[in-house]
Amino acid sequence: MNIGPIKIRLPAVPYGAICIFPFVFYDRDGHDASHEETHWWQQLELLILPFYFLYALFYLFGLIRWRDHQVAYYRNPFEVEAYVNELDDGYLDDRRWYAWMRHVGYWFGEHE
Ligand SMILES: [Zn+2]
Repeated sequence: MNIGPIKIRLPAVPYGAICIFPFVFYDRDGHDASHEETHWWQQLELLILPFYFLYALFYLFGLIRWRDHQVAYYRNPFEVEAYVNELDDGYLDDRRWYAWMRHVGYWFGEHE
């Protein structure tokens, strides 16, 4: 099955690229495309809205816990999956459903 985001290039996009299902908006070519496509699959498998809810929960509790936007952002399991694999061209072809879940332990302080 060959499905994926509807990619739309715009002159300027916050953070360079952003995924809002079913779209990925971006303003330059590069590995951000794979990063955002990972978020696209995360959103699809969580039926969109629960993704945003969980994403916000991980971020907000992370912010309370670490009192640091960068740490809260980079330790979010959805971001960990996207960052760890964004340079692996074949990753999305072999990705398992709910692959972000393996990074939840990292949020709770386990080593990866
Ligand atoms: Zn991301």
